[in-house]
Amino acid sequence: MLWNKLFLIILLSSLGSYISGQPKVAITIDDVPNARKFERDNFQAKLLDQLDSMKIPVAVFINEGMIYKTKSAAKNFGLLDQWVKRDYTTLGNHTFSHSRYSGVGYEKFTTDIERGEAITRELSKLHKKQLSYFRFPYNDLGNSLRQKQRIEAFLKENKYVPVPFTIESSDWAFNYLYEYYLMNNNKREAKRIADSYLDITLEFFHYFDSLAAEQYGRHISQIYLCHDNSLNADCLGVLVRKLKERSYSFVSLDEALEDKVYKQKNNYDKKWGISWFYRWMTDKAELKRLKKGEPDVSGMFKEYKRIHRLVK
Ligand SMILES: [Zn+2]
Repeated sequence: MLWNKLFLIILLSSLGSYISGQPKVAITIDDVPNARKFERDNFQAKLLDQLDSMKIPVAVFINEGMIYKTKSAAKNFGLLDQWVKRDYTTLGNHTFSHSRYSGVGYEKFTTDIERGEAITRELSKLHKKQLSYFRFPYNDLGNSLRQKQRIEAFLKENKYVPVPFTIESSDWAFNYLYEYYLMNNNKREAKRIADSYLDITLEFFHYFDSLAAEQYGRHISQIYLCHDNSLNADCLGVLVRKLKERSYSFVSLDEALEDKVYKQKNNYDKKWGISWFYRWMTDKAELKRLKKGEPDVSGMFKEYKRIHRLVK
């Protein structure tokens, strides 16, 4: 039995590279707008500028609290308006202050959701756009079934669609190192980190595409999660180009979510921000095995911890 299963897995994995159809991905960007970076860059919105030239749809998840992170609230308000008014952006709420649901609990979290839409709701009306998506900070949907069901009911009542992701590559940690080296004028090390981010991210795409082939026998519409940060301001264009070379087409979040994989039940009741690929699985041992097979980012995290200690 075990050998049969093993053989099937190997066979399906090798089929992965020949699978028919075109791979698709929706790019989603969290923690928008990055007001601190905006100030550092003399009020230039570099990621937005780059996206303007890329002509692909992106979904952005907004923390309105970001507006007050620097002294230039009026300018930051203008920055948020720029994000909202672009015709290629789909809008999502990401809470006001990026709180962790399982940590703060239902009352505080739902207040944070409501507070997080005050300005965006008005701006979206002004620019004739919808605000119907929500992404959980840290992808923490609660640490029990009860907690999860409670918040799902709240979101439904408030006409929010919770947004999953399938691929992420710890861009926030790569970004921490990238910014550290740039601030220390070490361009060579910063470039090493950027190159490593691009390589690892492509490996993650390959890995989750193989999993899709193995689990569903086809390409699925992937959802990539990354952040509004320096690394993506400098590298997202290259990443998109490299994905295009691998035949990816870039779809809106609306279109990606039409893929029926997203109709599956989320069986995961812990607080950790794992891929929805794993949340759809019921076999815990299999989940563990596949998670272990992910591209290795331990070297980067070792460096992250070392630099983090140094800075503190
Ligand atoms: Zn976030």
